[in-house]
Formats: sequence, C-alpha cells, structure tokens
Amino acid sequence: NLKTPRLPSHLKAKIPTGSSFTTIKKDLRGLGLHTVCEEARCPNIGECWGGGKDGVEGKRGATATIMLMGDTCTRGCRFCSIKTSRAPPPLDPHEPENTAEAISRWGLGYIVLTSVDRDDLVDGGSKHIASTISKIKHKAPKILVEALTPDFSGNEEQVATVALSGLDVFAHNVETVERCTPFVRDRRANFEQSLRVLRHAKRVSAEAGREVITKTSIMLGVGEKDDELIDALKRLREAQVDVVTFGQYMRPTKRHMKVERYVEPAEFDRWRETAESMGFLYVASGPLVRSSYKAGEFFLENVLN
Ligand code: SF4
Ligand code: SF4
Repeated sequence: NLKTPRLPSHLKAKIPTGSSFTTIKKDLRGLGLHTVCEEARCPNIGECWGGGKDGVEGKRGATATIMLMGDTCTRGCRFCSIKTSRAPPPLDPHEPENTAEAISRWGLGYIVLTSVDRDDLVDGGSKHIASTISKIKHKAPKILVEALTPDFSGNEEQVATVALSGLDVFAHNVETVERCTPFVRDRRANFEQSLRVLRHAKRVSAEAGREVITKTSIMLGVGEKDDELIDALKRLREAQVDVVTFGQYMRPTKRHMKVERYVEPAEFDRWRETAESMGFLYVASGPLVRSSYKAGEFFLENVLN
C-alpha cells in the first residue's frame, strides 16, 4: 500500500479562542520562547491553553508546552518536523530564568517542558532542564511541572539530574513498539534504552523520597501490530511507568514517513481499556491525543483529588 490514506473528519479541530490563549501568545513573542503547541500546530491548543472546555477549573487546568534548548535537534526522527544539525547554536543561558518568569506570570496550573535532543552537549542539556525546573518551582511553587525529556543516550546521571530537580512528572516517549523503533526514531534511540531511562527516573526519585510520576507516549498508525503493542505495554508496566498516552501519527510534511493507517476512535478506546486493565494509573487515548494533551486537567482530576 503505497498511498497515504485520506484524513478522516475526526482529526479536524476547532479554532482556538479565550483569554489565557491570547496572553500566552503575546508573552511568548516578547521573551523569545517557543511552544510545541504553536510550532507543531497542535490541534488541541484552544483546549489546552484555555484549561478545558467550559473553564470549570479556570486556569488551574490550563496546560502549555514550552520547548527548551533551541529549535534545532541533533537527532533526526522520521516522524518529527524539528530541524536537525550536528552542531546546533549554543544554549541561551538566560532561558531558564526567562521561562520561569513568563510561566509564573501566566498563572497556568500545569506546564510541560520539552526539548530537542542535544547530543552535542557534555551533559545532554540535563543541567539546563533541571535549572529551568527549579527556577519555575521557586517562582511559582504551586505549578505542576512535567518534563518530556530526551533519552540522554541512557546516561543515568543525566536522567537523575532531571528526575531530582523538583518536577512532578518525568515523561519520556518510546513513540512506538520495539520493532518499529529503527524506522521511526533516530538510530541512536532504542526501545530498551528508553525503558531504562523511565525505570531509572522512577527509582532515583523514590530513593530520594519524592517519587515522580513517569509517563510515556505511543503513536498509533505507523505499522505496529497488536501483539507488539501489548508487549510494549507489559514492559512499560514492568518499568513502573504510570501514565501512557496513545495518539494518531500525523505526517508533518511529504518528506516524513507515511501514515500507515488512520486508527478509528473505537480502537483508541479499546487500547485505553487494555492499558487501564494492565494497571496504568492514567491512560489518554484518541486520534488527537498528544503526549501533553490536557495534562493539567488529568492531574486535577486524578492525582490531586
Ligand atoms: Fe524530534 Fe525529539 Fe527526535 Fe529530536 S529527538 S528529531 S526533537 S522527536
Ligand atoms: Fe500544546 Fe500538548 Fe496541548 Fe498540543 S496537546 S496544545 S502540544 S500542551
């Protein structure tokens, strides 16, 4: 099957509006910060930045995803639209402070920090991420912080630096099942290494007496088989991963890998049930679900109550 299937209507989203949406947008310009929400033209931006459908939780449920360490990645995953270079520009030393300052002004309840991979840096950027997190927690102690991290090439010390920085959720995406990993992710990534990263984050934080929630995401529609997905979920549970999300892979441009198939909403529901029955604390699953999709609302409803 060489043709990419046609985009089904359940993948089309509404145009964003609302006041927190407008404030965040304005601030980002002034401080030179980037959000994945905008750069990846995420269809959920209205819902996430606005904090939910009817604003019941006000801004406490609002979530945004900030991208740290620049817009150029040292890796080149086949599904990702971020620029690649072996030597991206140096880190902005003011970024941790600027990010913390902006975030504390927005009054969001939940922030996701993600980043490009920086294999060119000695510490993989782990200290930069950790410093951003501790500055946010210093300025806005109530905000919940999730970091969606690189695999740090499996370096446990770097994983620990981030896991012990004061964050609430340590997220690292396996993206797909083991067999598909070499066709989907950069050749330096591998499924087992990503499992080790997640396992280590859980272990060191538990040993330090402040156990973090661990989380991963899987894209459906890249060629994975059901039994391979079950295997991936089992191994994630064995690694004590708490949260898993499933979303539809969407091809960013024609230069990226093809969508193998569009998964029906009912099948996403079935995967949610399967994962829940395997003991995950929380599962989000749907065609438009992204790793950070309404993460703040999830916490308000499931973890803090
Ligand atoms: Fe994109 Fe992350 Fe892969 Fe870099 S490591 S190409 S940012 S998915
Ligand atoms: Fe941003 Fe993630 Fe929500 Fe998309 S799903 S708008 S990237 S926070």
